[in-house]
Amino acid sequence: MLRSTTSQPAPPTFAPVVVIGAGYAGLSAALTLHDHGVPALVLEGADRVGGRIWSHRTPGGALIDHGGQWVGPNQHMLLALADRFGCATFPTWDTGEHLEAWRDGAVRRYRGDGPDYAPGAAGYQEATARVDAMAREVDLSDPGSGPMAGDWDSETVHSYFLRTVACPAARVRLHLAVQGVLAMEPREVSVLHLVFYVASAGGFAQLMETSGAAQEARFTAGAQAPARAIAEHLGDSVRLNTQVTAVDQRPDVVEVHTGAGVVRTSRVVVATPPPATAAICFLPALPNARARWIQRSVMGDVAKVHVVYPRPFWRAAGLSGVASLYDESTFGVVFDNSPPNADQGILVAFSYGDRLRRWFSLGQEERQADVLRTLTRLFGPEAGEPVDYLEKIWPDDPWARGGYAANPGPGSWVAHGRAGWREPCGRIHWAGAETASRWNGYMDGAISSGERAAHEVLRAFAERESGSG
Ligand SMILES: Cc1cc2nc3c(=O)[nH]c(=O)nc-3n(C[C@H](O)[C@H](O)[C@H](O)COP(=O)(O)OP(=O)(O)OC[C@H]3O[C@@H](n4cnc5c(N)ncnc54)[C@H](O)[C@@H]3O)c2cc1C
Repeated sequence: MLRSTTSQPAPPTFAPVVVIGAGYAGLSAALTLHDHGVPALVLEGADRVGGRIWSHRTPGGALIDHGGQWVGPNQHMLLALADRFGCATFPTWDTGEHLEAWRDGAVRRYRGDGPDYAPGAAGYQEATARVDAMAREVDLSDPGSGPMAGDWDSETVHSYFLRTVACPAARVRLHLAVQGVLAMEPREVSVLHLVFYVASAGGFAQLMETSGAAQEARFTAGAQAPARAIAEHLGDSVRLNTQVTAVDQRPDVVEVHTGAGVVRTSRVVVATPPPATAAICFLPALPNARARWIQRSVMGDVAKVHVVYPRPFWRAAGLSGVASLYDESTFGVVFDNSPPNADQGILVAFSYGDRLRRWFSLGQEERQADVLRTLTRLFGPEAGEPVDYLEKIWPDDPWARGGYAANPGPGSWVAHGRAGWREPCGRIHWAGAETASRWNGYMDGAISSGERAAHEVLRAFAERESGSG
């Protein structure tokens, strides 16, 4: 069991609803209940709200997002929430030429979506168009159904691309794309899960692109600002440093156990990532489908490294700061993460899957030297002279245990998806980005999942009042 860093007063002994976890899913569940006049007690194990969203100001004054940061124009739930709490956004810097590094040592400059002349570009476009066509066949409310679901869930993405994409360079592009959107290796996920994920976002380009897509904008006060604003709105019904250890469903009541005391409640919304949910003791044991779904949902492996400079010097050289690394680098993608007024220059580099495991095996100094070597190769000697360097390795985070999200392993959708994905278990309701139909794995999906779970609870209360429940 994790120990809280600060002692916390005992929670109340009764609350009509208990929400476990104060990430976007838990906060949106509590906010929806609050909007409908139902008070909910939010129990959060960490010493802050936001979960996988963590906006942090460095001693040098730079505001960085260690976790999720981008919002796209089709992420209506997140945009509405940000609007409600007055949290402004600004466009991601995307002006200038992008870079891509290849195994032959070449670093190419290009504009727009990708260099048409580059190795594998045509094969990549054909393959992603096929995935988009398959995504149109997925039922977002029950992805494990459908005539092809069995076949697609039985094959890994790695083996599918090996079988259907002849051009090796196109496969290298697809590999990085899968790492980039799932923070997992193509061998770790099924074709069905990839196709569902693409459908959930509204198409492959929605996941990959900046303008008009998921990477379009960032939050001026950081992506955690709306979460903090909700917590402030909910007041002392959000309890930090209060880890839930057990949920005991009795015939008339549910007992939620924490290190600081037991809360009795009518309904529980569990809004924790699957590995954190697996660490909670449920009594009686969860139904098999739900238990297996949680066990088989594996977090991705991602690290985000921010490197801070006195100014975004690459812009003067006509570069956007965006780079894709198709070589053996430990980082896959780099973005310009400078503040809106560009009074500092910030590059953010992402490492995932096998790349992360290689980088992670180095000591801290070697890791930093490795990042600066890569950035210097891309952007020149000035990249080797940062004023600040910050790394966040998500598999080390005791609450999230990885990122961006958990993904069910091959075969899981068909075997356990229908009953195990998010169907309530008695008085327990399930939220979290992993339970969303739209923008699964994203902040937007977390918010819609919290609203859905809250409406399940409200319906149950209404049925009880009318005598039908
Ligand atoms: C590096 C990275 C980059 C990302 N980039 C983006 C992006 O650009 N855009 C985007 O939309 N999404 C992005 N994501 C994904 C996004 O952050 C998540 O999908 C979303 O924040 C998940 O919200 P959640 O509420 O479902 O879960 P979480 O945010 O994980 O919240 C769960 C909460 O439960 C708490 N908890 C866990 N166990 C217990 C317990 N036993 N008792 C009490 N509390 C507990 C945790 O501390 C946490 O606060 C990124 C994620 C990462 C890691």
